[in-house]
Amino acid sequence: MCRHLGYLGPPRSVRDLLQGGTHSLVKQSWAPREMRKGGVINADGFGVSWWTAGQLGRYRSSTPIWSDPTVEETLSHIRSGSVLAAVRSATEGMAVEVGACAPFVDTTYAFSHNGVLTGWPSSVAALAQEVPTAALLTMSAPTDSALLWALLRHRLQDASSLTGTSVEAALTTVIHDVEAVAPGSRLNFLLGDGNELWASTWGHTLYVLVDELQALVASEPLDDSPQWEQVPDRHLVCARPGHLIITPIPMGER
Ligand code: GLN
Repeated sequence: MCRHLGYLGPPRSVRDLLQGGTHSLVKQSWAPREMRKGGVINADGFGVSWWTAGQLGRYRSSTPIWSDPTVEETLSHIRSGSVLAAVRSATEGMAVEVGACAPFVDTTYAFSHNGVLTGWPSSVAALAQEVPTAALLTMSAPTDSALLWALLRHRLQDASSLTGTSVEAALTTVIHDVEAVAPGSRLNFLLGDGNELWASTWGHTLYVLVDELQALVASEPLDDSPQWEQVPDRHLVCARPGHLIITPIPMGER
């Protein structure tokens, strides 16, 4: 099971964020504490995206995060106040390649998925039909997470027609649609647009630490601070510095 991390706060080096804390994301790649259902370590690559002056940058690699010199040599020189990162443990049968590593991005959003679609790929063929063909043909890898990103992007573009807060509504709709065709899927999402972080819990752990200065959302706490708060399962998180909303995900209608 992958581990992911979102940060909003004072600008800091991307390397420091990846390595920060006694239980940093780098440490979680080889010594995770709360891996469930399948994975042991997160050695199948990693990725990180950051926003600077409204522009989204990204680096991904199919090598383990602990052995990629780019973290030290390059990411230490990039500073940002909005970062989203993930380390990957590929689900059995899924491609191990750079295109399969989160974050998946467009010009606005970065997205990570911790989990699995049950019955992949036949179970979700109906969902794939809802994604525009061009988006399917340009998926960066033939994996469940890449399909979820294609579907979520599509829903986000449609968000103006959804009721409620549009991003939360898009995330909820994707979860309901997947659960309807692939029950028992695990759908911990992390989405950022540089100003806000959204996350879901649906089968895996998630923690938040939000104060006036910063917002951190992570699969596992990065340190022993008592400020970390565990998010209950089947909840949606919306966070930025000084702002945290955790709401239950409503039941689907199907
Ligand atoms: N199923 C996704 C993949 O293979 C995510 C894996 C995970 O959460 N461990 O990339």
